[in-house]
Amino acid sequence: MPIRRTPVLASEITQGSLAPALTMVAVCRHCDSVVDAWGMTEIGKPCPVCGTAWREGAIGYFPLSVHALIELIQQAYHSQAHRVRPVDPADERPAATGLAALVFYCTLGEVLLEHFLTRVMNKQGVPRRLQDQLLEVNLSFRLRMTRLFPAVTGDTWDAALRTLRERQQSDYRPVSKFHQEAVNARNLLLHQGNKWSVPTRLPKQCVDNMPVLIHLFVALHNLYVADSADEFIPVRETQGRRQNKGTRTQEVET
Ligand SMILES: [Zn+2]
Repeated sequence: MPIRRTPVLASEITQGSLAPALTMVAVCRHCDSVVDAWGMTEIGKPCPVCGTAWREGAIGYFPLSVHALIELIQQAYHSQAHRVRPVDPADERPAATGLAALVFYCTLGEVLLEHFLTRVMNKQGVPRRLQDQLLEVNLSFRLRMTRLFPAVTGDTWDAALRTLRERQQSDYRPVSKFHQEAVNARNLLLHQGNKWSVPTRLPKQCVDNMPVLIHLFVALHNLYVADSADEFIPVRETQGRRQNKGTRTQEVET
């Protein structure tokens, strides 16, 4: 796979949607691995993990809502040019559009986690009704991360991140920590109207962390759902995941 890198952060991309680049991954019908779909558009190409020819075409991995949320985050963040000037010039907290980017980012993480947990439970043959009950009982991101994730994978969230770091040389702890910070700020904003809980830097960080957040859930899928759990298939991404200094081959989409 060719290596193409760019110094551009996701927040610096103002023209066009990032969604096609970030969601262009597909699932192999034979080994359940998520692979870069850019290289699998030809019918009959062999899966890079199991080698089985894909005769039926690629099946997209992410639900449409992931695509939509990526675009909403971008739109909200880049709408800041139309911001209403604060009454108090000293108030440098994010404008409403920046706060919207934060809310959409947190929703993206929640959608990705639920999608992943559902895939794991499908793989294990958990009946749909029980899946719904488990998701309902563990409604918040934190409960799903601390209780449901260990229940269905057999690992704690932290152990999973450690495994990914050891096997793939990718450290997802920073994006996980950032997502929790974003969720805490979002909760204070939505439930208490506390916009002062949102640091000025947060909306930009949400956009820049978006690619690596998506990449994390692809990596988790390939760790816990794919038949060939030891293989890692890199996906196309932006340089937004700078904190992950893996040695893997990457394609970069601007
Ligand atoms: Zn395969």
